[in-house]
Amino acid sequence: MGRILDGKAIAQRVRAEVRAGAVALAESHGLGVGLAVIRVGEDPASAVYVRSKIRACEEVSFRSIEHHVPAETPEAELVELIGRLNQDPSVHGILVQLPLPPHVDADRLLLAVDPAKDVDGFHPLNAGRLLTGRPGVRACTPFGILRLLDETGIDLPGRRAVVVGRSNIVGKPMALLLLERNATVTVCHSRTRDLEGEIRRADVVVAAVGRPELVKGSWIKEGAVVIDVGMNRLPGGKLVGDVEFGPALERAAFVTPVPGGVGPMTVATLMANTLQAARLALGLG
Ligand code: NDP
Repeated sequence: MGRILDGKAIAQRVRAEVRAGAVALAESHGLGVGLAVIRVGEDPASAVYVRSKIRACEEVSFRSIEHHVPAETPEAELVELIGRLNQDPSVHGILVQLPLPPHVDADRLLLAVDPAKDVDGFHPLNAGRLLTGRPGVRACTPFGILRLLDETGIDLPGRRAVVVGRSNIVGKPMALLLLERNATVTVCHSRTRDLEGEIRRADVVVAAVGRPELVKGSWIKEGAVVIDVGMNRLPGGKLVGDVEFGPALERAAFVTPVPGGVGPMTVATLMANTLQAARLALGLG
């Protein structure tokens, strides 16, 4: 029987570290760390996510500035707003909450964000830095997952890691981060012929698909570490992951729960990335 990898508790520790760092910056440089969040329209899930990010800012003593604009705001105006935030020295991180309304090109907005303030790590320059092994802002969800893996004590070099999903925000950066840590990485996706076979060999499984319980517990290798990124709302309202939690826990060493696993780590990592952006803006490492 494995252990539940409690992302909520670990995220709380990360937030405490960030808060200590923010307080130290305030004392040494009189600097308040600022995160600007742009929310376009009334997507209900976005409202919930933004609220939790603003609450996290309060907890770590950052100043958060929410720019909530109507759904019909022209793209050019949003680019202009990002330009102003790029220039504002009191703003260290800029976050554009996705999804955006159909008339707005998300790529154009992400490209407009100053890479130094791209605390989500979605700008192609930061993605390229990860690809080429250079320092830069790492995407929050996979970077948070790396911390979760470290908390298990698993020795990653040489281990077989299977990432299910190849999105730009989770799957691909996750695979690159694991590669950077010398794991032997396989990326699976909707065209993978034998997902079960790939997962049966894996010492680490990261499932980021968005299909309820696609990964069966019986596929998990004894003693593996299983990270479930998926957040799937069932018709009755229940939230489940991409992995069959109970059966997976019987075989794995660690499994993250949904909710309470990866989600809180994503927000905590966003705070850590914003603190790091503020430190770099001051020329601190
Ligand atoms: P995307 O929809 O962008 O990507 C899903 C990936 O899953 C694609 O690469 C797709 O393959 C692959 N896939 C789809 N069906 C299968 C299948 N049957 N077998 C194997 N692979 C499959 O999703 P995201 O990466 O944005 O998100 C994934 C999940 O993680 C979602 O549930 C999302 O809500 C959640 N999430 C959670 C976060 C958190 O903080 N907890 C943060 C971000 C996401 P292909 O490329 O071939 O289409």
